[in-house]
Amino acid sequence: MSAPITPTLLYLDNVSVSFDGFRALNALSLAVDHAEMRAIIGPNGAGKTTMMDVITGKTKPNEGTALYEGTHDLTSLDEAAIAELGIGRKFQTPTVFEMHTVEDNLLLALKNKRGPLATLFSGIAAQGRERIDVLLERVRLTAQRHRRAGELSHGQKQWLEIGMLLAQEPKLLLIDEPAAGMTDYETADTADLLRDIARSKAVIVVEHDMTFVRELGVKVTCLHEGSVLAEGSLDAVSANERVVEVYLGR
Ligand code: ADP
Ligand code: MG
Repeated sequence: MSAPITPTLLYLDNVSVSFDGFRALNALSLAVDHAEMRAIIGPNGAGKTTMMDVITGKTKPNEGTALYEGTHDLTSLDEAAIAELGIGRKFQTPTVFEMHTVEDNLLLALKNKRGPLATLFSGIAAQGRERIDVLLERVRLTAQRHRRAGELSHGQKQWLEIGMLLAQEPKLLLIDEPAAGMTDYETADTADLLRDIARSKAVIVVEHDMTFVRELGVKVTCLHEGSVLAEGSLDAVSANERVVEVYLGR
């Protein structure tokens, strides 16, 4: 891996998205560094999901740019090209192959990266097995290796899906509300897992659970009406009067 030229991995500059005249994003600017984890908070309708849609190319902004690695303008690329650049997204509902084992789910994700032909013509080569060992350790599922994904708890399914994303070797991971529906124990483990991942990758995580956000211990951006309302440590953002008014105090 070559050294980054600038510390900024992703730079959203003045991004606006309108739906029938309604501004879901309103001159939004945001910078995320290499191997930074950023937590995004804000009330429903603030534009959090729309922001992720812009980064992944699902939605094209009416104005603004989304620069990735200083050179790629994501607003001019389609979703497949953006995924190729190493941007992976995890939606709120886990989408694992329930009938397959944990190991096979990871294997499929690894093979996807290598292309469909490799899937047909190879079993678990030694190299693949090693990578799966590492991924299983990472997402805390080593003991569940041979269980069917459908038998996992909700939290474990979320971890498996994170493992499947990691198999694609992204540089930037977008994760929407990972703690939703998790037990307190799973939530704490998920914070741990994301901190672990963020040592080598950038992570943008949207979350409403403030206990979880506190456990992440990272810079927080609060969105409201499509723009940044406040940014900084969770303590600083939580103490912001406007943040309390529109979000935390409700
Ligand atoms: P959040 O994820 O912060 O809850 P969203 O990004 O989903 O917010 O939505 C921001 C605003 O944009 C909301 O008011 C929502 O209703 C609106 N919106 C999002 N997607 C569309 C769409 N495809 N068409 C019309 N309005 C949309
Ligand atoms: Mg949303």
